[in-house]
Amino acid sequence: MSPSTHRVQLLRAPPPGPAVGPATLALARTLQLSRTEAGLLLGAAPCVLPRGLAPDAAAGLLRALQAAGAEARVLEAPASAGRCSDHAALEDDGSCEGCGARTCALCTLVRGARRCAACERRRSRARHFKALRVAVLLGVLCVAAGWAFSVQRGRDARTAWVRPLRVAVVLVGEDTRGSRALADSAPELEDWFARELRRYRPEGLERPVQLQVFGPVVAGTPLPWPAEDGGWLARLRYARALDAALAPVNAAVGLTPRGYDARLYAVVEPGGAGSFAEGIGAAGGELGLVRVRVDGADATLALTALAHELLHCLGATDKYDAGGHARLPEGLAEPERALPQRRAEVMVGEVPLAAGSGRLPESLEEVSVGPVTAREVHWSDVAP
Ligand SMILES: [Zn+2]
Ligand SMILES: [Zn+2]
Ligand SMILES: [Zn+2]
Repeated sequence: MSPSTHRVQLLRAPPPGPAVGPATLALARTLQLSRTEAGLLLGAAPCVLPRGLAPDAAAGLLRALQAAGAEARVLEAPASAGRCSDHAALEDDGSCEGCGARTCALCTLVRGARRCAACERRRSRARHFKALRVAVLLGVLCVAAGWAFSVQRGRDARTAWVRPLRVAVVLVGEDTRGSRALADSAPELEDWFARELRRYRPEGLERPVQLQVFGPVVAGTPLPWPAEDGGWLARLRYARALDAALAPVNAAVGLTPRGYDARLYAVVEPGGAGSFAEGIGAAGGELGLVRVRVDGADATLALTALAHELLHCLGATDKYDAGGHARLPEGLAEPERALPQRRAEVMVGEVPLAAGSGRLPESLEEVSVGPVTAREVHWSDVAP
């Protein structure tokens, strides 16, 4: 076998025509390539074909190329000993950019970069995996967004005020006089919501809030109360603990949370003199929790606390200062009137007498929704 001392330099590819086929075939045979690979090399002109040939083989290939109309010539050049790691017949033309393996001119042509077959496979696997990961993430995102959207739409619908809100009030505690007094005065709170809504929407719903009272029921374990200064993690833990504690309460009274726009749980404390109420509610949420003591038949403070927590659920914010007194002017039921005021703003819970002082309301007549709260729950569009 004569030594591979020559190569063919392709100066111009053959023009399209019937003679290209035989030229491609000759190139494929001589360089031991597939026809597709030979076609690629032909198209890459001008180039030196990447294989050293014996002089007669080089001359034969030159004739076949020229017959097809290509411009080419034979160069005398010693063959390199290095071979491509993928194309055993072709000469080494540099290292793979990924792993350093030997690549040839055809590798670069096929892959658009100096890259070996193994690296090309890894790359396309990584691309597929990335596409899959993106698709999965997008899917998860869509589901989450859809869920959030439907929850939000449900919550927004509550403040459209085109249908009565269904609110469950669950009395938690012994069957005491206090529990009964609170249950008996629920219609009073419905009337209060109707009256207050009509101050802002004279044509508004006749009964914007429908309360359904459950219980009293004794909770197996005391309902948890949130820590004073909790971060978001503490709040999350608290929400889970509260959910877990409320599930048996719901089951005991036959309450299905889904059936209600909001749920208010009133822990009615036993006996003793004097009434009190405190509560927590998630802004924009579905859950309010109040702890109350009802002294005698007057449930004003407990009802005010329930209204306060329900309005929190509907988006209203607190309007009292660190001392528990009305912030001025947003904590005023009637900001157009001077102090002392006649009524307590429901998100304050105190009738302001002077800056930084007030008294508890004596009846729901003395409790009112101020213009800022009205705007927060979409009773009015007017900026106060
Ligand atoms: Zn190669
Ligand atoms: Zn490689
Ligand atoms: Zn509050």
